[in-house]
Amino acid sequence: MRRWFATAVQRQGAEVCRTIWAVAIQTQAGDYDAVVIGAGFAGLYMVYRLREAGFRVRGLEAGSGVGGTWYWNRYPGARCDSESMYYSYSFLPEFEQEWPLEQRYPTQPVILRYLQTVAGRLDLLKDFTFGSRVDSVRFDDGARRWTVRAGDGLTVTARYVVTATGALSAASRPRFEGAEDFAGQQYSTASWPHEPVPLAGRRVGLIGTGSSGVQVLPELARQAESVTVFQRTAQFVTPARQERLDPRMVELWKANYQEIRRRTKITPGGIPIPSPIRSALEMPAAERTALCEEAWRRGGIWFLDGTFSDAVTSPEVNAIVADFVRSKIGEIIDDPVVAEKLKPRTHAWGTKRVPVGSDYYETYNRPNVSLVDLRADPIERITPAGIRTRSAEHPLDVIVYATGFDALTGSLERLGVIGRDGVRLQDAWAGGPRTYLGLMVPGFPNLFTITGPGSPGVVTNVPVAIEQHVEWIAEFLSYLREHGHDGAEAAPDAADQWTAHVREVADTTLYPTADSWYMGANIPGKPRVFLPYIGGLGVYRRRCDEIAAGGYPGFVLGSSVVAQEAAHGAG
Ligand code: NAP
Repeated sequence: MRRWFATAVQRQGAEVCRTIWAVAIQTQAGDYDAVVIGAGFAGLYMVYRLREAGFRVRGLEAGSGVGGTWYWNRYPGARCDSESMYYSYSFLPEFEQEWPLEQRYPTQPVILRYLQTVAGRLDLLKDFTFGSRVDSVRFDDGARRWTVRAGDGLTVTARYVVTATGALSAASRPRFEGAEDFAGQQYSTASWPHEPVPLAGRRVGLIGTGSSGVQVLPELARQAESVTVFQRTAQFVTPARQERLDPRMVELWKANYQEIRRRTKITPGGIPIPSPIRSALEMPAAERTALCEEAWRRGGIWFLDGTFSDAVTSPEVNAIVADFVRSKIGEIIDDPVVAEKLKPRTHAWGTKRVPVGSDYYETYNRPNVSLVDLRADPIERITPAGIRTRSAEHPLDVIVYATGFDALTGSLERLGVIGRDGVRLQDAWAGGPRTYLGLMVPGFPNLFTITGPGSPGVVTNVPVAIEQHVEWIAEFLSYLREHGHDGAEAAPDAADQWTAHVREVADTTLYPTADSWYMGANIPGKPRVFLPYIGGLGVYRRRCDEIAAGGYPGFVLGSSVVAQEAAHGAG
């Protein structure tokens, strides 16, 4: 609401507007059955499901419109790595027939338009307050209700709170000495301006070569006078092979959409491609290479998930895949010195989220692009004129930070959550997050998290995981209502078992060996713990369904007194 308010003040004078503001806030303040925080894929669907189930629900969103990730990350080149036909809701069978599928991967403007259209069709805008950045979510032990406050002054209370804040939404921008004195412009990919950023004739510095950096680089290079990439860790980038979709294929697709959706829901990653069943070690070298070549030619998910059954569990097989990608980098890059810097050697293939790029490596062959290897030549400081590394000063007009997120836990901790007995969420999670099914946290009754730690969300095609979470939560709340319970809480022993299971599954793979955001390793001081559940979405769904069918074991249900005593007792 802030932007609207500033404009109104200019037009109508501060006194009148303060009154209007207070009235506007009060009309949305009040008591609800549930508050949902966030208006991306998760928040929109959660509000819809709860509203349709007869709950009084209010959504709060920091941005001025819907979209979540796709509202904020509007940098040039922003695009989804999941293919268009899978990256959408499955609960709108009529709308999915109408929605045009034009390119293999949907771009940020297309996804944003999709979510805006869905919000309009389902009449969801009236259920949200926009421009409301939540900074306090506090449980009242006596009343057993949550009080949610936003920076714009809005306060609401509710029995239930559902966080739909996104797993990758708390941006992390490292502090470089001197950054405040830089004379040019500085932008983050994670909060890119809504207006076009003028780049023509500018010398741009790009810090960060994860998925965002990999996507933005080719666009920056096309527009700017020059781009200098400051790379700390070389990545194994997979080619996306973006292309226009053949309308005949789309037609066929749509004719079979429901069956495709059904299959999608039982896959490990939310995309129905066949999982490889053979180890590379069972194949002659020529067959392995041919398989890698074919997967590389098809691009995207086919290379990420389509080569060998043990690509991220066997160090030997992983090395085969890594060598293959390094050989491709060598083939693409003209300058062997640049190629060497771009070949990843610090982590196993796939253990940091593999970026999917369009012309990423090819862009380094352009005369206006140069690469600084920060491991050999670290950044010393930012100066008014640019970035100074140990060996040189790099004059710049623009600095772009594509430096990642405080993943999974950051967006929850930033809400200022205080649970039962005044315990802050970040204190409860000081040694690493502890959740039951990634959905509830002991000590935080009636608080549900979507795609939080312990959920498979970020290692899947996210909307599929989101739909599972949302539907499960909505059914749980209906169950509680029907059975006369005033809430639920994760039992500590169930959360401990789930958290241990999440780590055990990760420990069967090479993932924990890398300094990745999966491990919290990109944030100084964050506990080094594998955050998402990688046992597969299909397996997870079955587990959640069994728990629901069994009357929700592992959750303490009930009237306030019973629930609190049981939860304390179990602790
Ligand atoms: P990221 O993968 O965490 O990459 C951040 C980059 O910034 C890394 O190269 C990192 O280097 C670098 N960096 C961080 N701090 C630095 C410092 N102090 N000095 C120099 N370099 C520094 O973040 P992201 O690219 O925003 O992507 C995050 C996740 O969001 C992705 O993995 C993906 O899940 C999602 N995403 C998806 C899409 C898509 O679907 N197309 C697009 C964008 C993002 P190190 O590697 O050395 O830490």
